[in-house]
Amino acid sequence: MAKDNRDYSFFEGKIVPTDEAKVSVKTHALQYGTGCFGGIRGYWNSEKEQLYLFRLRDHYLRLMNSAKILMMKPRYSVDELMDITMDLVRKNQWKQGIYIRPFLYKNELSLSPRLHNVSDDITIYTLPLDDYLDVNKGLKCKISSWIRLSDKMIPTRAKASGGYLNSALAKSEALMEGFDEAIFLDDAGNISEGSAENIFIVRDNQLITPPLSASILEGITRRTIMDIGENEMGLKVIERDFNRTELYIADEVFFCGTGVQVAWIKEIDHRIIGQGVIGKVTKGIQDRYFKIVNGNDSAHESWLSPVYL
Ligand code: PMP
Repeated sequence: MAKDNRDYSFFEGKIVPTDEAKVSVKTHALQYGTGCFGGIRGYWNSEKEQLYLFRLRDHYLRLMNSAKILMMKPRYSVDELMDITMDLVRKNQWKQGIYIRPFLYKNELSLSPRLHNVSDDITIYTLPLDDYLDVNKGLKCKISSWIRLSDKMIPTRAKASGGYLNSALAKSEALMEGFDEAIFLDDAGNISEGSAENIFIVRDNQLITPPLSASILEGITRRTIMDIGENEMGLKVIERDFNRTELYIADEVFFCGTGVQVAWIKEIDHRIIGQGVIGKVTKGIQDRYFKIVNGNDSAHESWLSPVYL
């Protein structure tokens, strides 16, 4: 917890104790899911006594794209949001792994599910977070009976609150059936993504991931992995459609995302993937990823925002 045991959030233009950051039950976003959000991690490096926020600017640039799709008019620029976030994290005095959740929401108290001429505001809160899914154990997954919502229906490129009902349906189904996570097909029957993470397969030393047109979120971790795979590991990186059975026969399969980080998948629909152990490409990516986000790879310092001066 925060050092002085108080938890602070950014709300209605100010940093306030989180228990004062409250909205009305009439709030538009609460009724209609007309919000969009981000999810940013901070990594505490105890040797350097530093907290690093990973790709902060890129997360806010994506939030601005989500806002545009939802016809919002954010009152702050990307630079201002970065400064506010740094101030908020400092105010909370976090010295451990954290998750930052900026949330843009339609705050009007009016009826009717529409996007235009509805006011919006932004709140930001933080919480301690270590692993979201176990990155070492090898996840057991199932292809969801729910289909990934299509960009023709609800924009998947926007990290829109309402769209997460789709994720919640798939995640609960998977967990309640004894799996760790769900994998969605898109509406054409190709692999799309997990409930809150992008997916990669490895075949013959090629790193393959569904294209942006497969109704996926434009993941920042996905982009990071494509970059290090191609530029540092000499892998051929391919964005292309593939279907369910190609997952079964892949050499390696892993999820990536801010929450999940890089987590290998051991089993899908009761088929063991590869040899049933973490693959060497996945392991190489995982090791590099953790080095980078923890501030132990000077080649990627530009992706990090150190919080403490
Ligand atoms: N897809 C979905 C649906 C997600 O919620 C997330 C988590 N933000 C991701 C993919 C991964 O995106 P990122 O790497 O930017 O966290």
